Amino acid sequence: MQGSQLNILVSLRKTSLVDYPGKIAAVIFIPGCNLRCPWCQNRELVLDTEKAPGAIFLEEALEQIEKRRNVLGGVVLSGGEPTLYRDLPDLIRRIKTQGKPGLPVKLDTNGTFPAVLEELLSRPDTRPDYIAMDLKIAPSRYAVLLSGGAAAAALAPALQKSAALIRSSGIAHEFRSLILPGGFFGPADREALAPLAADSPWNFRPFRPGNCLDPAWDDTFP
Ligand code: SF4
Repeated sequence: MQGSQLNILVSLRKTSLVDYPGKIAAVIFIPGCNLRCPWCQNRELVLDTEKAPGAIFLEEALEQIEKRRNVLGGVVLSGGEPTLYRDLPDLIRRIKTQGKPGLPVKLDTNGTFPAVLEELLSRPDTRPDYIAMDLKIAPSRYAVLLSGGAAAAALAPALQKSAALIRSSGIAHEFRSLILPGGFFGPADREALAPLAADSPWNFRPFRPGNCLDPAWDDTFP
């Protein structure tokens, strides 16, 4: 990763049985996100990396993963939004090729940067081995998740393009939605998102309060 930024702070979950289907995985949480979902439970990662639990430098996280190579079946790159990290292609290449053999990579994404996905998919050594894309609310409503200033009108086509790229990639994948309380995720959202998932796996999980980006969500839906 010559010239890459390995000195960023990330969070590392050394072992997870639930983040990479069928594999024991390490999870690297990469800081920063372009969205501000009020229910987000990665507050520190989104707002203040220094305070993220167990923050360590990426290089150190990779060294720890390498040391645990014999018990790990893969690495999850999550966030925040990992496609914001400019050296993501180099990071994936390193994980997939370091060691003999390298480790497969699962990418978690909010799908708002299809150009990054397209770049990753274009080369064998940067193609994730599994992609999970969040489908949050109807694409036309994503503007309510923006932190301001971003081009809301561009989000719906971006989500559609990312979903189409993932569906046609030939890579194992899933779409994921949270069943949000207070009618935030309703039948109209589900109907609007259905064409993005099409015939691909679409998994739903219940919302659980705790450390929400908007603390009102913890108070309103305890
Ligand atoms: S839930 Fe995901 S996309 Fe939304 S603010 Fe949190 S990290 Fe970003």
